[in-house]
This record gives sequence, structure tokens and C-alpha cells, in this order.
Amino acid sequence: MERTLSIIKPDGVSRGLIGEVIKRFEENDIKIVAMKMVHLSQADAEKFYAVHKERPFFGSLTEFMTSGPIVPMILEGDNVIEKNRTLMGATNFKEAAEGTIRRDFATDIEKNIVHGSDAPETAAVEIGFFFNQFEINDR
Ligand code: GDP
Repeated sequence: MERTLSIIKPDGVSRGLIGEVIKRFEENDIKIVAMKMVHLSQADAEKFYAVHKERPFFGSLTEFMTSGPIVPMILEGDNVIEKNRTLMGATNFKEAAEGTIRRDFATDIEKNIVHGSDAPETAAVEIGFFFNQFEINDR
């Protein structure tokens, strides 16, 4: 059993897509074991995306991620890291497969509705960034 961090980004929350995203997880037998709504500070967003700090879009990305509330969730299931990445679609919605969340709803390469951890190591760090042990429902 694997876990990953998903985030519904500010564009997904403000456009009323929380239910749509969660429906896709539930329809695909992905279990949600933790969930909250938070509004990141600039410092939080810079810490979360530190791996991208040299990229030209870092300022824009962190500004976007602090522009409104987000919904981080811990997803659990067999192979859930890859399964979630498949449901999300490619970073650039124009390259995302038909029927993926980003293909269906993203409006630009940055405003792409969802985040999903890309490997077990990053999943562990990202889960720890948003949740403590008492917030994870593992029964
Ligand atoms: P992901 O794992 O598919 O989310 O993609 P990355 O880790 O490469 O990038 C993190 C996030 O940065 C993406 O989800 C986008 O929101 C944003 N992003 C990625 N590439 C670009 C880009 O070329 N321009 C802008 N403005 N944002 C980008």
C-alpha cells in the first residue's frame, strides 16, 4: 500500500472543482486518508516548491499557489503515486491525455488544477509538510 500527496490548487478550489477531483479519486478506488483546506503564505509556498527555485516560473508559481485556499489530501492505494499522476495528466494540459483532470479543466501550464507527488521520497516529504500523524486516518 502506497501513499501520495495530492493538492487541489487555487484555480481548482475557486472554480468549484473540489468535488469533481475527489469524485475521480473515489471512482478509481483511491482512498482519501487525510484532507484539509489551507491558504499558504509566500514563505510556505517557496518552501514547498524549493526544488523549482531556479526555474524562471518560480515567482509566478508561488504567487499563484498563495492566491487562494488549496485542498491538500493524502491518497492511499496500490501504486497510487503513478495512478494519481495518470489521472492528473501531463503538466502541460495541451499534452495531457483525454479524460485526465488537467486535460479537462486546466487553463494554462501553471494553472493546472492539481499537484501530485512524483516519487515515494517526495511523497513522504510532501505529506509531512501538510499533515501530522494525528491527521492521518489509517483505520
Ligand atoms: P508537475 O509535477 O506535473 O506538477 O510539474 P512540475 O513539478 O514540473 O512543475 C510544478 C508546477 O509548476 C506545475 O504543476 C505548474 O503549476 C508549474 N509549471 C511547470 N512548468 C511551468 C512553466 O513552464 N511555466 C509556468 N508558469 N509554470 C509551470
